[in-house]
Amino acid sequence: MQNLIKIANKVAEKIEKKVKSEDRSKFGNYIGMGADGTETQYIDKIAEDVALNTIKKEGNILSEEAGFIDNGKEYTFIIDPIDGTRNAVNGIPFYAVSVAIGKKMLNDVEYGIVKNIPTGDTYYAIKGKGAFLNGRKINVRNDGQSIYCLSLGKSGDEKTWGLARKNTIRAMGAAALEMCLVASGACSFYFISRDILRVTDLAASTLIVREAGGEVYDVYGSRLEMPLNLEKRSCVFATSGMKEGII
Ligand SMILES: [Mg+2]
Repeated sequence: MQNLIKIANKVAEKIEKKVKSEDRSKFGNYIGMGADGTETQYIDKIAEDVALNTIKKEGNILSEEAGFIDNGKEYTFIIDPIDGTRNAVNGIPFYAVSVAIGKKMLNDVEYGIVKNIPTGDTYYAIKGKGAFLNGRKINVRNDGQSIYCLSLGKSGDEKTWGLARKNTIRAMGAAALEMCLVASGACSFYFISRDILRVTDLAASTLIVREAGGEVYDVYGSRLEMPLNLEKRSCVFATSGMKEGII
């Protein structure tokens, strides 16, 4: 596992470097169709290529554009090369690379790293050993009183609008990073009411929230569990603890 963790960290570092070295005006160019059925943009492609070239055959790979690559290994790297592509393309400095290491299901993920590319802030968690931000241990906040991260726009619904009317909210468009804000205590929860997120989007950040003392559910109150494939999409409620009034 130690070697696989090193590789995951290297993927995050190299993607940060690569993206920062590129001309942002090209980020949004469409360059083909990804395995998840959505069009691939230039920034997603260059980031994923870095991941594939770094991991090589050290593990299986499940990634947004490439799909599942079976290298006959016990462990799979679950990758979102760019979380928050729209932010990156438009010059909004809130996007990340997310890498997790697991076997068959979300709940057997053993390691997760989410790196905020513009700031370099690095969140990571090792199962059973806690969650960290830039090497310092992080914990969810327990007053339930801070900022609510919501997914609004087309992915919102009546419940989301209700929460938005009554609370201090942010909607920042990068699920993995928003979940990490819950882990670090910056926000008290993240809520996306429609079945939109794939396991690649949330594998690392789910472990990070849980290792920081929070929990991740679907919006019906079940502890979130997903298979490691791109077909399944889920709603998500990541919380520092509080559930009442949400689900
Ligand atoms: Mg992505």
